[in-house]
Amino acid sequence: MTQPNDPTQPSQITVAQIQQLIRERYYASDHDRGTGGTFLYFAEEVGELATALAANNRRRSPPTPAERANLEEEFADVIAWLCTLANINDVDLTKALTKYTDRDRVTGVKD
Ligand SMILES: [Mg+2]
Repeated sequence: MTQPNDPTQPSQITVAQIQQLIRERYYASDHDRGTGGTFLYFAEEVGELATALAANNRRRSPPTPAERANLEEEFADVIAWLCTLANINDVDLTKALTKYTDRDRVTGVKD
């Protein structure tokens, strides 16, 4: 039976759980690499996401199933490396995200 917030159920994973999972798996090597080197990996993944977004938004041909799957992977990679940066810089992403979840703090709209 599925339990609430069971991290093995992808549809139920929380930001706190994914940040903790990344910490448990990679903290030692991430901390050893440091913020500078880790930011380069993060930036590389942002570039891969940009490439995937371009492949999924061509004007005249729809994405292939592989391109669609890759797009999802690249979003996940960016989030994972963002978690890594947060972990090695002692940032609690759930707490940071109250900037958006706290109605009193959410202001403005980008256009
Ligand atoms: Mg990637």
